[in-house]
Amino acid sequence: MRDERDGLDFDVVTDDAETIHEECGVFGIWAPGRDVARLTYFGLRALQHRGQDSAGIAVGDGQTVLVRKDLGLCGQIFSDADLAAMPGKVAVGHVRYGTSGARSWEAAQPHLSTIGDVIIALAHNGTLVNSDKLRLELIRLGVPFLSDTDSEVAAKLIGYFTEQTSHIREGIRNAMEMIEGGYAMALVRENALYAFRDPHGIRPLVLGKLDDDSWVVASETCALDIIGAKFQRQVRPGEVIRISDDGVVSEQAVEPRACATCIFEHVYFARPDSVVNGRSVYSMRYEMGRQLAREAPADVDLVIGVPDSGLPPAEGFAHELGLPFGEGLIKNRYVARTFIAPTQEMREMGVRMKLNALPDNVEGKRIVMVDDSIVRGTTSKQIVRMLKEAGAKEVHVRINCPEVKWPCFYGIDTAVQSQLISARKDPEEVCDFIGADSLAFLSLEGLLRSVPTDGYCDACYTGRYPVEIPPAFSAGKFLDGYEPQNLSRASRASRMQIEDVLTSNEEDE
Ligand code: SF4
Repeated sequence: MRDERDGLDFDVVTDDAETIHEECGVFGIWAPGRDVARLTYFGLRALQHRGQDSAGIAVGDGQTVLVRKDLGLCGQIFSDADLAAMPGKVAVGHVRYGTSGARSWEAAQPHLSTIGDVIIALAHNGTLVNSDKLRLELIRLGVPFLSDTDSEVAAKLIGYFTEQTSHIREGIRNAMEMIEGGYAMALVRENALYAFRDPHGIRPLVLGKLDDDSWVVASETCALDIIGAKFQRQVRPGEVIRISDDGVVSEQAVEPRACATCIFEHVYFARPDSVVNGRSVYSMRYEMGRQLAREAPADVDLVIGVPDSGLPPAEGFAHELGLPFGEGLIKNRYVARTFIAPTQEMREMGVRMKLNALPDNVEGKRIVMVDDSIVRGTTSKQIVRMLKEAGAKEVHVRINCPEVKWPCFYGIDTAVQSQLISARKDPEEVCDFIGADSLAFLSLEGLLRSVPTDGYCDACYTGRYPVEIPPAFSAGKFLDGYEPQNLSRASRASRMQIEDVLTSNEEDE
């Protein structure tokens, strides 16, 4: 596919199933008098690394909500004319990497839902672990579905409760009591923006200010920077923020639970220029590299990183040991996953579609290659081989996080443990498999020392899951001999029938 709308020469498609993929990015803006569709477009461009399957923008114009969404990248989907045709004062946007549901137009977000004569559009990042139960109950209650995504379940559940209570805020609050998992959501109606986050704070969401009357929410601060908004604070776990002509109103909709922010955001997902808890992601990754160098030094001629997320830790690793740091792998930035199936020939080209070795820098050298993770091992194997073919004498692999041994159920696509090489092999065996001269992983303690002190989810390294995983959801996803640990129980409401939640709330009052 070629798209020259914004100057990109966009030719090639790969489906790199070997690495962990970004999840989704959400953006929302309340800015009367401004071009909210265009500002949302810019916000989504800053969040494009979080999802490349599809993108969408929904705008509230005071009367109704208009949505434009499609498969592909932001630059492919939205033309000047599209954005100009969406005037309004409030908008949400979404970039998607599908972890739940197929890659289809219907699965693209924001999801539109009609509640009586009110239209809402929902943008969701994360995964709901009890969406199957909720979907079946909603279908039993006569609610129709267009896609198989958990995001549509959330939109329809909010719609159901809103109809029952006649208040969107109540609809959101009741839905948050029932849904379990990791989520950050932005919702727009014709005249208001809502933003809310799961009670553990697993998925990120920040609040920014554009001027006295204009507010922004986004998955990462880099999306605030691009439109000149100033970071205010994180949306709190379990909080709902409503922004409208009445100003900004915050409500603790559900009790916060033990903080469990996804630590993989810092390792891999977030952009290095984003800031979390006052620290840039770049500086955290640099520190991970320094810790890694202390734990697993190597006597080499050059330290390189696998672009992009492996570059800051590689720099930190090199500086800690006083070694040269340089480029050894060049990334083709114009390759992305889209809805076009790759050909067999493309599959065989594999990782070469995205990376190429730089013989000038690596030939005849002993090299440390720093990467963010090893998932199935096949990508690492290809990169090591590529470096050796380019003349590297030795390739020592260093990973700036612990071994990924457990599947993630909160928005990342590592949902089957048998696919994770470290769940089946010890580091020595993984080293043999990828053909490296040595291999070491950063310890969990070293990782935690590199990031701000906060509560983290580290389940993909430890099997300690902050949100209870329903047996039906995890069935067949763990290898024999692995016993996951649930750190909390699902909420009382989530174990009820949908129609009983309102009655129960009335009784509690
Ligand atoms: S399991 Fe891993 S990737 Fe998933 S939310 Fe927890 S830390 Fe993040």
